Amino acid sequence: MSTPLQKYLSGTSPDKISPAFTAYVANLQEVAAVGPEIAASIVKELEAQRSHLKLIASENYCSLNVQAAMGNLLTDKYAEGYPSHRYYGGCNNIDDIESAAAEEAKALFGAEHAYVQPHSGADANLVAYWAILSAKIEAPILEKIGETNLSKLTDAQWADLRAKLGNQRLMGLDYYSGGHLTHGYRQNVSARMFDSYSYTVDKETGLLDYDAIEKQAMEVKPLILLTGYSAYPRAINFRRFREIADKCGAVLMVDMAHFAGLVAGKVFTGDENPVAWADVVTTTTHKTLRGPRGAIVLCKAPFAEFVNKGCPLVLGGPLAHVMAAKAIAFKEARTDSYRQYAHKVQENARALAAECLKLGLKLQTGGTDNHLMLIDIQSTHGLTGRQGENAMFECGITLNRNSLPFDPNGAWWTSGLRVGTPAVTTLGMGAAEMKEIASIIKLVLDGTKPAMTEKGTPAKGKIVIEPAVQAEAKKRVAALLGKFVLYPELDLDFLKAEFIK
Ligand SMILES: *Cc1c(COP(=O)(O)O)cnc(C)c1O
Repeated sequence: MSTPLQKYLSGTSPDKISPAFTAYVANLQEVAAVGPEIAASIVKELEAQRSHLKLIASENYCSLNVQAAMGNLLTDKYAEGYPSHRYYGGCNNIDDIESAAAEEAKALFGAEHAYVQPHSGADANLVAYWAILSAKIEAPILEKIGETNLSKLTDAQWADLRAKLGNQRLMGLDYYSGGHLTHGYRQNVSARMFDSYSYTVDKETGLLDYDAIEKQAMEVKPLILLTGYSAYPRAINFRRFREIADKCGAVLMVDMAHFAGLVAGKVFTGDENPVAWADVVTTTTHKTLRGPRGAIVLCKAPFAEFVNKGCPLVLGGPLAHVMAAKAIAFKEARTDSYRQYAHKVQENARALAAECLKLGLKLQTGGTDNHLMLIDIQSTHGLTGRQGENAMFECGITLNRNSLPFDPNGAWWTSGLRVGTPAVTTLGMGAAEMKEIASIIKLVLDGTKPAMTEKGTPAKGKIVIEPAVQAEAKKRVAALLGKFVLYPELDLDFLKAEFIK
């Protein structure tokens, strides 16, 4: 019996053999040898990703090069600590990889220091919070006591230090205004470790009101003034945030998880580049940045020694294989082709927003400056975000519902849809496709009604889609995806035949 790889090689003419695909088949074959159902799920996921139009603003498709860097023996190594300062022996190669990833990140963003270990955006924020607490609260206390070894503090000194660390103020963007759960939301540990305050967007305009934020910050006097978002469709003036932080004596932290790709690609420059203005910047690496799932922390020099202690302060052992993939992704992001991609993401978002408006849809703040927009479907179509999300999925589009500022439908049902262009732009789509996508979204919304409950009132989740609308939308989505194939090197029919039994 021949293996899937042998079958592929023998059934393919030599000039058509793609090394990337050969590697993929060999890799899946190894997975299938132990867990055939896992290999099958990987292939099914490729099929799912290929057959749905991905408008999820926080997702993307990283390169096969990035993926290759992750799937190897680096996962076997412990390397707690940081380069040249490890708690384990034999870390020379991991030192090289981590240092290379950090140097690439510094060059990419023009940062004074980079820490590339965090496993996710939530972890990166915890590292940042605790590094700031260490620098601003713990270090001065230790200096006053005249002791650097924590184990040597008396019980009373330790209790005093812990009480002071636990009562600091964080001021971040409210969840409903587009902030992230980790920015002081009560369900997250950030609101439990900090005395947490949030600012909102302006009720009328939906925009950040810097004067109002300044006024609030002067009252709250937070240790950390935090900005950045998961669902705000506009650029932020970080120079203005720097002024506010200086005025109220706060450390300025920016979470650019969503728009790091636009910073890396030089779409956001000057006042809109957070790295130039903030003391500490965190970001995921898998959203617009298009790298592996993970995160990094960038900071100004005075915070470097504290950020480097992320492991063991917050994190366990670093994921060396993912740090390798981060290095590859940062190298990719330093190319002209990536910069063109980042500009195209913004252009596509603008084109999509303009077309949505033309078709009579309602957008939060009336448009977008970045890679995402929020469509208020409650006011135009009487649908909850949940219903819109379901309807889109039934028609071949994946996106997520999102609460709008001051959303009457709450965080579960919501009133809006969040739509982003990073993934479709990676596939190569442009202005013409954005027009088509807007038209499909409009078609689906117009053809969807809330289902009626037994009591005769409209349901908040269930929907009824006109069958003809669903059929047409699916057909048009399939036509788009047929022209812009995800990972075209990968022969899905072959993978299905070999790995889905
Ligand atoms: C996505 C996101 C995160 C969290 O990233 P994870 O990798 O899911 O932990 C943090 N902050 C913001 C602003 C985000 O958008």
